[in-house]
Formats: sequence, C-alpha cells, structure tokens
Amino acid sequence: MAQAPAHAFVPTLKTFNTASGKAGKYWSLKELAKQYPNVAKLPVSIRIVLESVLRNCDGQKVTAEHVEQLANWAPNAERTEEVPFVVTRVVLQDFTGVPLLADLAAMRSVAQSLGKSPKTIEPLVPVDLVVDHSVMVDYYGTPKALDLNMKLEFQRNNERYQFMKWGMQAFDTFGVVPPGFGIVHQVNLEYFARGVYKSPTDQSDPPVYYPDSLVGTDSHTTMINGIGVVGWGVGGIEAEAAMLGQPVYMLTPDVVGFELSGKLREGVTATDLVLYVTAILRGEKVVGKFVEFFGPGAASIAVPDRATIGNMAPEYGATMGFFPVDEMTVAYFKGTGRTDAEVERFEAYYKAQGLFGMPAPGELEYTKVVKLDLGTVSPSLAGPKRPQDRIDLGHLATKFSELYSKPNEANGFNQPADTLKLRHPLPAAKGELTIGNGDVLIAAITSCTNTSNPSVMLAAGLLAKKAVEAGLTVKPHVKTSLAPGSRIVTEYLEKAGLLPYLEKLGFYLAGYGCTTCIGNAGDLTPEINEAITRNNLIGAAVLSGNRNFEARIHPNLKANFLASPPLVVAFAIAGNVMVDLMTEPVGKGKKGQDVYLGDIWPTPKEIDDNLRFAMNAKAFRQNYEQIKANPGKLWSSIKGTQGQVYDWPESTYIAEPPFFEGFKMKPHASDAGFTGARIMALFGDSITTDHISPAGSIKESSPAGIWLKAHGVSKADFNSYGSRRGNHDVMMRGTFANVRIKNLMIPAGPDGSREEGGLTLFQPGNEKMFIYDAAMKYIAQGVPTVIFGGEEYGTGSSRDWAAKGTQLLGIKAVVARSFERIHRANLVGMGVLPLQFRGADSWEGLGLTGDEKIDVVIGGELKPQMDVKIVVHRPDGTHQEVTVRLRIDTPIEVDYYRHGGILPFVLRQLLAA
Ligand code: SF4
Repeated sequence: MAQAPAHAFVPTLKTFNTASGKAGKYWSLKELAKQYPNVAKLPVSIRIVLESVLRNCDGQKVTAEHVEQLANWAPNAERTEEVPFVVTRVVLQDFTGVPLLADLAAMRSVAQSLGKSPKTIEPLVPVDLVVDHSVMVDYYGTPKALDLNMKLEFQRNNERYQFMKWGMQAFDTFGVVPPGFGIVHQVNLEYFARGVYKSPTDQSDPPVYYPDSLVGTDSHTTMINGIGVVGWGVGGIEAEAAMLGQPVYMLTPDVVGFELSGKLREGVTATDLVLYVTAILRGEKVVGKFVEFFGPGAASIAVPDRATIGNMAPEYGATMGFFPVDEMTVAYFKGTGRTDAEVERFEAYYKAQGLFGMPAPGELEYTKVVKLDLGTVSPSLAGPKRPQDRIDLGHLATKFSELYSKPNEANGFNQPADTLKLRHPLPAAKGELTIGNGDVLIAAITSCTNTSNPSVMLAAGLLAKKAVEAGLTVKPHVKTSLAPGSRIVTEYLEKAGLLPYLEKLGFYLAGYGCTTCIGNAGDLTPEINEAITRNNLIGAAVLSGNRNFEARIHPNLKANFLASPPLVVAFAIAGNVMVDLMTEPVGKGKKGQDVYLGDIWPTPKEIDDNLRFAMNAKAFRQNYEQIKANPGKLWSSIKGTQGQVYDWPESTYIAEPPFFEGFKMKPHASDAGFTGARIMALFGDSITTDHISPAGSIKESSPAGIWLKAHGVSKADFNSYGSRRGNHDVMMRGTFANVRIKNLMIPAGPDGSREEGGLTLFQPGNEKMFIYDAAMKYIAQGVPTVIFGGEEYGTGSSRDWAAKGTQLLGIKAVVARSFERIHRANLVGMGVLPLQFRGADSWEGLGLTGDEKIDVVIGGELKPQMDVKIVVHRPDGTHQEVTVRLRIDTPIEVDYYRHGGILPFVLRQLLAA
C-alpha cells in the first residue's frame, strides 16, 4: 500500500486553553472556514462530522476532497457524495453485541494460529456493551420481582454471559455493563459520554482533543444527540468496521432545522412534546436526514427532555434528532458526575470551535426549517398501532371507540360496534371480576426514552403519592411494572420518598432493562389470555416506550398506547382507555368521592422541588463505580473462560464464526470474476433484510430447526434467530428462510400463486429443496452461485446477518435493479459483489428461469462503479450478454472486496502492523 501523504490541512491544527489554563490541540473549524467561508454557516451537526473528516484526513480512507466536499455542503444540493465518518467510540446492546464479540474472538484465534500475538486484535476505539435486552417481566407487583426476574434472566442467558465475561477480560478497550445496571442509551447519557476525547495512543503534549461521536448497534442510539453528540444506530458490520478504525460511510445528508419557540404549558410533559415532534416530522418525510433543533424554545428545554426527543429519531425516521451543546448541556454534565477537568475541557473545546450555544433563527443554513411553538403542545398519547399517531388525551376515549369498529385498512380493529362495551367474567374470579374492550392489561413505566428523564419519573411518583393519599387503587387486571434505565432513578425516587407510593399501586421494580419496550413484557395470566382470545377482546397496554407496533408489546394486546410515566400510572388506576381522563374521574377515593386527574396531577413546582434529588453528581459517581466494584452476585458467579483466545466450548448460542477459515496474509486476487455460477434465487422487488435473515421464531421443520433438534434443543427452547446471532450454524440455515419469501424460480401454481419459504430448484435437475441445502451441495461441488433481485434489494432495517449469511451460503454476487444503501455496503463488506442492472434491464427482461449458468466477467483491474459483463448460458447452448454496473462504490470498498471483505481486510492490516 502506498505511503500516506502528509495531512493536507496542517495549518488548521490549533491550541485551545481551558478556564484553569490547561492546553489542548484541536483541528480548528474556524481556521478551515478561512479557506471555505461556507463552514461558518453549516448546521452544527455537519460541522461536527466535518471535524472528524478533517482530523482523519490521511489521503487514503479520508481525502482532502472529502474535506472540501463537506466544507462546501449546500442546503439543497443533490446528494451523491459519501462522507467517511470516523467515530470516537461504539456502544452495543447484548443482542447485537454478542455476534460482534464472536467476530473479534475469531480474529484472535486467527492471530494465534499465525503465530502472532492475539493482543494484536483489539478494538481501536472504546467499545461499551450494556446487557439490557434480556430481562423479562415474568414477576411483577411484588417486592421480589427484581430478584426473581434477574434469576430467570441469568438462567436463560448463561452461555451468552459466560462469553461476554471472557470478552471483558480479553480486550482492554471492551467494557461490559452487567445486567441490572440499566439501559444502554441511558447509561450512555449518564455515564459513557465524557465530553471531548483524545486518542489513547496520542502521546503528544498537549494532546489533540476531539468531540464525542459514536455509532451503536441499536436504533435509539440517537438519544445521545440530546447532549450534542453526533451518533446513530448502525448494523453490526458497520459497527465492527468502526470499532476497528474504519470510517462509517454515509451519503451527505440533508439537514432539516427544527425551530422551537415558546414554552411548554403547565401539566405538559416531555413525552407529550416528543409525540408532537414525532407526528410533525413523520409528515415532513425526514428519512435519511439529520434533524437539528434550534431557537429559543430549544434553548429553554431541559437536557433530559432533549434526550427524549433525540431518542425517538427512528420513529420520526431521521438519522439523528440533534441538539447543539450549550450552558444547559454543561450543567447536565456537572449534575451527572463528570469530573471538573472533563467539564472544563468540554466547554473550552466547544467554545474554541465556535460550536457552543443554541443557534438563533436565521443564524445557520438548513435544507428546510420546520417550526413548533411549545405553547401549543397538549397532553397526548400515541397509538394504538404506530408511534406517529398522536392523540390528544381528551380524544383517546372517542378515538378508541371509533377505531374499534373501523376496518383494518383505516387503522381500526374491525369489530362489531355493539360489542364495544360488553364485559366478560374472568373464570378464576367466580364472576366478580370482569374484563372488556379497552381494559388496560399492561401498564409499564419502561424505556430509556422516558426513564432517563427525571421530570416525568418524578411526576409519576408524585401522581402515585397523591393517588394513594386520595385512596385510589389500581384495577386488578393490570400488569404493572417499573423498569428504569438506570439505578439512579430508583435512588432519587427513594430519596424523594416517592417509591413506596408507586409500589402501593403495584409499580414495583421489575428490572433495570428494556423489558416492555423491547417486547419483554412477559405473559399475562392464563385466564386473561383465554378471555381475550375467547371473546376476541381488544385489550390495551399503556407504556412509556417508543414503539407500539402490533404484537410487539404482547401478542394478545392489539391497542398499545405510548404515554408519559404519570399517564401510565393514571391509566393503571382508571383501568380502561375509554375513561376520558379530561372529564371523567380517574377513580373513587377513600370516601367514595370522585377523584379527577387534575386532583392528582403534580404541579411544576412540586416537580422542580424534587429535581434536586435527581441531579446529584455524587450519587451518579457512586452508582457507576459499582459496575466494577460490585457488579452483583449473579454476574460475579458467571464463570467466563480466561485467556486472550476463546476456547469455543460447545454451545448452540455461541460458536466460532467461519469467516476466517483458510485465512492467509495475502488475499487471493478476485478481480477476475467467476464462471459457471448457478442461480440460487430469482426475487421480485423490495426483498427486505428480514426476508434474507429473519429475526423471529424458528420453524421446527426449517434447516435451523432441524439442526437445533439434532443438537438436543427442544422446540420450547428454540428461542429466536435474533437471540442466536452468535451461532452461524443457526444463522446461515436461517438465511433466506423467511416463511414469506418467494423464489420466482419455482413456477407459479395453477391459480398463479407462488410458493413461499426459503426454497430453490437445485440445478441441473430442478430438484426442489431448501436454499441452505442447495447451497451446501453447490459448495461441495465447487460451484459458485448468484442471486437475482428487483428494486430496493436489501431494504428494511440494517441487519449484518443478511450479508454474512449470503456469503456463508457461497453466493458470489447479487444482481439487482437497485440496492438499499446499507445492505449494498454490507455485501461488499462481506466480499459479495453487488451488481446493478442498467436502465430498464432486469432478470425478467433477460428471460431467466433459473436453469441457466452465469459468468461474471470483470475486464481488467477492479474499479468503483465500472461496467461488468454478465454472460448467460442457457441449457440449449445459446448465450446472451448484458452489461451491469459494479456497485463497489469507493476505492476503499475495492480494497475490502479484494481482501474477501472488511473483516479480513482489517485483520490483515492489524496483523501486518
Ligand atoms: S428501552 Fe427501548 S428504546 Fe431503549 S434501548 Fe431498550 S428497546 Fe431500545
């Protein structure tokens, strides 16, 4: 590889001083603005990305042209250029973190087998994994709920936790926050984010500092945008690349400015505001764009409220929901226990860069400006099926009643209107207890979205106190749970004397983790489940989470409403979503009197008076010290293997991934293409990553189900593909195994219908079999395979196993009419060629049926976006040629592909260093 040229922007390296006179170096955007005056008007979020591009400009991964392109960002330009963004750190949750750790462990095994030090393999940026996705609310409404739920969690996840423990001791830059501490995004906000950073290898004096930025393997990573950190959720392959020092590539984004003015009215919460923002931005179509908040309203709202708004960026579709750093951010850092030196450096750095302070209207240029007067926000919920469907609290009862009998296409439940108010006795209660439509069956104070926000959590506690004092109780059919995203929450609720009141209403601590928010609400009682199915009831959940798609919260609950924590408590008391809390009583008090929401709703002063318990720097420090000092008995009793290299004990959850089998330091040249490939599948448009690599349940008769049974796993313990992402044997068998995928190679039935499921016709001979089984036969015969697709191949959520599985099935190329951006990059990242039809060309146009042989001819040296020839050989001896475009888009991607993918590329770099 050519020697790296000198940094093209050396004069922009400057010095800043903190208030106490400590110096630091930084890559100055103000200096860069002397060359590119446009920089001064750029949105703050773009300038933070620009700083990374400037700092990392090495002439190879990041070039001077990249700096110039982003410095010249124009609000409404056509977006064709990609930005290479090197992030400061990476965060992971346990579902997505385990496969990443498995890849790192496999790289260490390779290093050892080549006689190198396994320590060569080490994430180059800090990586933090929080175990938050695995706790379920099996127990609730008892003081023992937390203990019992955690015991079950440890039983279910023992093998995964052993593996994480090995990772903790093996990697210096890989930290694990054990179960029972909190939720990744809340811990990120309260603890991981340290302001500005310096490279661990920077020995210069003074060192070079730079802003925090990150990617996380969870979509709500955007919560960190609330404290001015640029970051978002990505798939595993991108996170691995980022971990190993590679840039995250993104198309230069549009930035929608969101101007906030006015003040929230009394009684209106941050949750109400975020539901407004979500509904507005959904209408603005901000998918793939940055949203940046500014204006006096943005400056006035508290930092936890900003984080709540950042959290829901995936719900409004944006890449980020970003708030610039200002005095409030600095105060939040102080109040949450960051050290004086960190806070001082943070403030000085942002001021030196000209990035400090909430921009005023007109100060910066945005692609578009959206406005909201905070004074117009009113108490709200969202649902019953989508987070963007906001409903005024006063309209909920009528909305539910309307939707009850509306058709499904109109978002309704399609039920006979005359059954709406019927009530049905619960058998176990001998007729005393009844259940009906709209009954709140789950009331969950859950999710980092809101539990990170002391004002709404204190409001829930204060409302509970007033309710208990008034003599109100929760309806017996409600499953109540309190599952905050950090221990700080229970600590301040306790100090404020409010926890006992929540407990009196059944909101006992059920866990510190995602619980109901991720669908881990646990089951309802058998009588309630039976009553729902027998009577076809539309039961409700009210939760302080951010997603409410059907069947996410509980398979039997069709109406799921997102609401603030105090409203969750209020609806648990009211017991039914058809109680209009604006006009009807929440319940009856001690003396049989009507108690209204206004009687128990906390005043702003009451909330403010209690906020001092929540912003206690010492408490934050002491709490997070426990991660190392006292991680808990259950975690301490997990026996992880020791050593720098993992010994891969027998497990159906964790296995050594085969991505480096036969690894050699020299990549074998793959510029020549391949010949004689067989077609594995012919797909239509919009094949999603979930079609390619499903996350849900595993069918007994599927290749993965058969494999699990053969390995002694009973059907009841299959768990999901999602939880088994650490085992390639399950995941490669699950590739293209979605029960709804249609391979159009298989001829249509007499009625024109298409067979669904992961099947193909093995060639020659047209024998129908599972794609996995055919893939293994082709691999055994040394026959390459290809996939043909239509428009938007790989659309849907970013899922690395969609590309990993494709590679492991021996598929050498995917030829489609267009690709979803991330999946295309992931295919290259796994060494699979994405090839794109030109113009109106398609596999249908070529008349492919699936029994042809395919040559992919790359004429000469591999270059981004070059033309590639496909030769189709038909069984009758004729052949046809078509030219397609190579969708390897950048020079670094050419390197990735030549090395067989990003992981071997990085591994060779690390081992050669
Ligand atoms: S609580 Fe919900 S939003 Fe937060 S990390 Fe867990 S699943 Fe994601």
